[in-house]
Amino acid sequence: MSLMQDASSLAEPDEADEADEIIQATAEQVLAVVEQMVDLPWPEGDEWLEWRLDGLEGTTSYLMHVLPLASHSDAAAVATFIAPVAALADQRWGARHHFDASRFTDTAATPAAKYDLRSAPAALVRSLDAESAIWWRLGTDAALLVVSSVPGLQLNKAAFMVLSSSWLADEAPDEAPSALLLADLLSGEKDRIISAMWEVFATRDREILVPLARYLPKIRQATADVELGGMLASQRSNLEHVLDRLGLVSSGACLCAAYPAHQFYDPKKEEGRQHVRIVGTVPNQQQWEPDRICECCDCGARFQVEQGEYHYTWWKWRPLTAPRSGRARRRSGVKRERR
Ligand SMILES: [Zn+2]
Repeated sequence: MSLMQDASSLAEPDEADEADEIIQATAEQVLAVVEQMVDLPWPEGDEWLEWRLDGLEGTTSYLMHVLPLASHSDAAAVATFIAPVAALADQRWGARHHFDASRFTDTAATPAAKYDLRSAPAALVRSLDAESAIWWRLGTDAALLVVSSVPGLQLNKAAFMVLSSSWLADEAPDEAPSALLLADLLSGEKDRIISAMWEVFATRDREILVPLARYLPKIRQATADVELGGMLASQRSNLEHVLDRLGLVSSGACLCAAYPAHQFYDPKKEEGRQHVRIVGTVPNQQQWEPDRICECCDCGARFQVEQGEYHYTWWKWRPLTAPRSGRARRRSGVKRERR
């Protein structure tokens, strides 16, 4: 039986759940499940997903995967169960971090520019009657262990939550660019969204893109009704492209697959970002500039890129070879391609 039937029982425990329960699993089994939680799918929008891993049940919201561990009237019983779990986590996952949930109390009423992203997980920590929690890094994710700490509770709860570490990390802002970009994309403010959009457009940095891709449904929702404008080319269509590009990140496809779908990928800039190499040119009777042959630095796929002028300079990327997955290929001895 699940300790947590739906989202509301995490935020607002109801009477029906007030049976003493601690999951039947060893510390080893709990950690094995938490390590698998990082690969769980994320829901669309605000729905909750239910899942089962190695016999343990949990739920997923847009923010985090939650594995309930205990809900028990005896605080000591919960502590006895948790102690070896935390000890094994220290041993296996390395440095333990502290998250002080009492510091982050922003709400939906807080102006977007001042909203601290840590307020969202902090509210969930507090909903389990805890003031703080401990967490470990699992790659770009965090495994957050929350245990009720208020004395004299009828029910003492414990749960593991897995979420992007950008929601928790107490780092200087410039050390967590994905968190900053996410805050911009969720801000509802045109200028911040557009500025973040072009940063996402220009990067292949997985440290930035992977955490953002997790929040794609949330970003789509938060940007859906914002008037973005655009003089010659609609910023709305630019944003749609950038969000589709984030979708490529989750699919595992090489990001060069985005080139044919957008007209602002300047080959010279992409070469400057070390995303492609310009390996040759082909004359084009219709255009002032010859077409360029570009090779993707990550997968080796080749494109012929036409440059044209309308009200602005545009580029049309035509695949010459299919994008390849797998490790990067680095080739030298490039020869000129013909049409
Ligand atoms: Zn590629």
